[in-house]
Amino acid sequence: MTVHISAPLAAALAAAPADRLVYDLTGIERQYDTLLGELPGVRIRFALKACPVDDVLRCLAARGAGFDAAGPAEIRQALRAGAQAHRIHYGNTVKSDHDIAEAHRLGVRTFATDSVEDVTAIAAHAPGARVFCRLTTSGEGALWGLNRKFGCAPHDAVRVLATARAAGLVPAGLSVHVGSQQMTGEAWQRALDSLAETLVALDGLGIVPDHVNLGGGLPARGYLDRHGNPLDPPLDKMFAVIREGMERLAGLTAAPLDLVLEPGRHLVADHGAVRAHVYRLTERAQPDGTRARWLYLSAGKFNGLYEMDQIRHRLVFPAQADEAGEAYVSAVVAGPTCDSDDAYGGGRHPARVPRAAASGDPVWILSAGAYATSYTTQGFNGIRPLPCVCVRGPEGQH
Ligand SMILES: *Cc1c(COP(=O)(O)O)cnc(C)c1O
Repeated sequence: MTVHISAPLAAALAAAPADRLVYDLTGIERQYDTLLGELPGVRIRFALKACPVDDVLRCLAARGAGFDAAGPAEIRQALRAGAQAHRIHYGNTVKSDHDIAEAHRLGVRTFATDSVEDVTAIAAHAPGARVFCRLTTSGEGALWGLNRKFGCAPHDAVRVLATARAAGLVPAGLSVHVGSQQMTGEAWQRALDSLAETLVALDGLGIVPDHVNLGGGLPARGYLDRHGNPLDPPLDKMFAVIREGMERLAGLTAAPLDLVLEPGRHLVADHGAVRAHVYRLTERAQPDGTRARWLYLSAGKFNGLYEMDQIRHRLVFPAQADEAGEAYVSAVVAGPTCDSDDAYGGGRHPARVPRAAASGDPVWILSAGAYATSYTTQGFNGIRPLPCVCVRGPEGQH
């Protein structure tokens, strides 16, 4: 059908009698193995929020992945999936006293932090725990920059980890997040520079972290930009920057420095797809007098495709495979709800759709595996969350 979809995923989508979200577990496992191959020795802590689906977590845990959990509920889900507590960290810098104590009770011993206030609470409710301090990044180069809300400047990180040590905690590491769907190698370069500066300052105080956590941000390959052009992230360059940067950091510290990553999107995005269907293709005058076509689908912004303002998903119309000639026309694509925000590309960037698209025709929405389950609303206009199905390729038996 297309190079952007694996055979098991295509088969499951083709066989689906109704709407659903399909994950290819074999594809996710392969993606995990490839990442380990690019960054030998890396410890993966999968960011649960990108795909809190039990079968996906189980297959990652079985391969040795740990988890980046944002709170007690995610910690419990990771434990249920078979992860050992020492491979789960509490990666959210935002937490209540209650949640810190609960995580500690569940066996989690490593916590992210970015403030003296939070470190003081960890010391009180998870005594003796290991903490890593998140450094701020600009978010530049990312489709979703996770800046301002999280992370501290290098001098504050030194203060936070010195406070941690004084409070009986283990100042175990430093972390960054360069922003989600990061598109540049330079972002990791800047993050590594900031980590180097902080490691040197910590060394001056006799604080020697045992790991550096480069967070998430590794991109999916299969998205299009709003205009429909492939995003094509320079992954090889990113891995090269990370490998070289880690070597440089290792030269700055007295003890061995482990590399931790918290990929979310990168592991799952291209291995999940939505099977939706056509509601209707229409044509009418727009407020500016021009005529435009709109293609309404059964799934949109509130059915897991929340990120469609920033990226465009590849659409496949299996009933009309031939995109050539006049069979395809330009139409704004939109979801099914009574909310005008529920339009692909903000409703301003038309896509190519089959002229003959008829109500009920299946549509496959590709590279929808990241964040779709987390961003699904409950019963918006009476629409239930898409059922979730996991499939495997022939080489891996369930
Ligand atoms: C969401 C999140 C991630 C995953 O980010 P991706 O861009 O999906 O890889 C990693 N770490 C933290 C702390 C997060 O909040």
